[in-house]
Amino acid sequence: MKVNQVEHPVVAAKLTALRDARTDTPTFRRLVDDLVTLLAYEATRGLRVEPFDVATPLTTARGVRLTSPPPLVVPVLRAGVGMLDGLIRLLPDAEVGFAGLVRDETTAQASWYAERLPDDAAGRSVFVLDPMLATGGTLVAVVQALLDRGAEQVTGVCLLAAPEGIARVTAAFPDDRVLLVVAAIDERLDDRSYIVPGLGDAGDRLFGSAATRLPD
Ligand code: URA
Repeated sequence: MKVNQVEHPVVAAKLTALRDARTDTPTFRRLVDDLVTLLAYEATRGLRVEPFDVATPLTTARGVRLTSPPPLVVPVLRAGVGMLDGLIRLLPDAEVGFAGLVRDETTAQASWYAERLPDDAAGRSVFVLDPMLATGGTLVAVVQALLDRGAEQVTGVCLLAAPEGIARVTAAFPDDRVLLVVAAIDERLDDRSYIVPGLGDAGDRLFGSAATRLPD
C-alpha cells in the first residue's frame, strides 16, 4: 500500500479543531465534510481521463473528461457515511456502495453485517471512506472484497491512521493497487484500540449518539 499523508496548513488546522473534545456535533460534521473534500483532491489525482473537444464561446478547445466506468465510492457504515458528501462533491457521477462492518469492542475484530457492493467492479477506481484506520481489520476486509470483484485500484480515504493499522493493511496489500490518503498518522492505539491522541469515537461525534467527555 502506498501512503499519502496530506501536508497542508488548512488540513492541519481543521484536523486540530476536529480533535478538540469541545467541538460540537454540527461543527464536527462540517469539519469532516471540508476535510474530506480536501483529501479527495489528493485521492482523485490518479483518475484516468480521456481527451475530447469542447466548444467554447470562441472556438474549440481540447479538454478531458473522466473515463468510464465511473468511480465507486464506498463509505464504511456508520462513520464513513459522514464522509460521503465531501467526496461526491468532487465526483458527482460516482456510484455509491456500502460496507457495514462492526468492531467487537473486546476483541477489536471486524465482522460484516451489511454489504451493498457491485458484483463486478472490474476496471473501477474505488474510494473507501472510513475516518479512523485503527487496527486495519475493517479496511483489509473491505479492500479484499473490492479486489475480489475486480477493482483496479482501491484508495482508502481516512482522517486519522494508527501506525499499527497502516502496517496491517500494507502487509495484506504490499502492491500499488491500494493507496491510503490520510490527514495525519497518530502515535498508537490504546488498549481499547482507539487511536491516540485521536479524536475519540468518530461515529458518536458525527452522529451525536453519545456524550464526549472532556479530559479530566
Ligand atoms: N474508531 C473510532 O471511531 N475511533 C478510534 O480512535 C478508533 C476507531
